[in-house]
Amino acid sequence: MKIPFLDLVTPHIELEEELIAVVRKTLRTAHFIGGEEVENFEKEFASFCEVPHCIGVSSGTDALRFALLAAGIGKGDTVVTVPNTFIATTEAISQAGGEVAFVDIDERTYNMDPAKLKAYLETHPKTKAVLPVHLYGQMCDMDAILDLAEKYNLIVIEDACQAHGAQYFSKKHNRWFKAGSMGKAGAFSFYPGKNLGACGEGGAVTTSDPEIAKKVQMLRDHGQAKKYYHDFEGYNGRLDAIQAGFLRVKLRHLEEWNTKRREAAARYKDLLSGVVIPYEPDWSRAIYHLYIVRAANREALQKKLTDAGIGTGLHYPVPLHMQNAYNSKPGEFPVAEKATSEILSLPMFPQLTAAMQEHVASQIKANI
Ligand SMILES: *Cc1c(COP(=O)(O)O)cnc(C)c1O
Repeated sequence: MKIPFLDLVTPHIELEEELIAVVRKTLRTAHFIGGEEVENFEKEFASFCEVPHCIGVSSGTDALRFALLAAGIGKGDTVVTVPNTFIATTEAISQAGGEVAFVDIDERTYNMDPAKLKAYLETHPKTKAVLPVHLYGQMCDMDAILDLAEKYNLIVIEDACQAHGAQYFSKKHNRWFKAGSMGKAGAFSFYPGKNLGACGEGGAVTTSDPEIAKKVQMLRDHGQAKKYYHDFEGYNGRLDAIQAGFLRVKLRHLEEWNTKRREAAARYKDLLSGVVIPYEPDWSRAIYHLYIVRAANREALQKKLTDAGIGTGLHYPVPLHMQNAYNSKPGEFPVAEKATSEILSLPMFPQLTAAMQEHVASQIKANI
């Protein structure tokens, strides 16, 4: 049995007629940039995220950069995040003019450790913003992060690029919140492999702040609110209409797809032995963008699974502070360093069947 790491073909075959209808409609109106499809998608995704505003942009990286710029991050401002994330998180900080600072992750959630953030802020009280990343579709501990942000007057921008529909239970407010609705702004990516993916590039910023929404709308469109009247220099960072139309078709299935991923995660929990499975705190409803296990002999296990026809991934093999781009040394963030040497991403997608998962589990058991 061959099991892919991710099946991107099946969902597109299932939705083929609807997706083609989007292309046909767009060709016949020639509204390629902006217009009704984009505005409708923005309304629908805002509603899905339970926020008043959503602004479509051309990638998750743009969403992060525009959210930071709109929130006022500029030259010399320190933005603290984690080394266990995709480099777009820190590229956005640097490209907004900010300085990247890291704090270590929690050993069980693999996300920002609020205790490490607290320790960092005690010695760096001038920090301007914090950028928690809801990695793998698991929420960060937002009550603790938001409390620290209030105490130290920090702007909070959520990297929700892997967390479309993930939820956090706030004890403080006694209710569930969607990813991207808790900070000053949230950034989403619609890269094809994400839980909600375009058939190309796309992203969005979510926010409850109308000023941020307005600023992001202008940043994505050359600093203009009215055509050819530019209040500042912006970017070409718009979401195009065909992608917005595709995203509207797929958004109608996202809830069901996320439920299927959670069901698959529950099955893995029953089936797997010999590896550390993901930890889901009672305040988190994860949407399992990735399903991460941990094994001391990760390299050997990955090779055996590859030989058995099972696709796996590493997210991510090198923590950011050790990347050549940041020219840094190991030793500074031991939890992230150890985790990244042991984690392995198993097949996870809504169409994953119980039989496939049984096969994955038996191959792991035989090779651990
Ligand atoms: C995918 C991703 C991004 C960047 O999104 P793009 O759409 O590829 O630009 C940023 N942060 C995280 C955590 C991601 O997974």
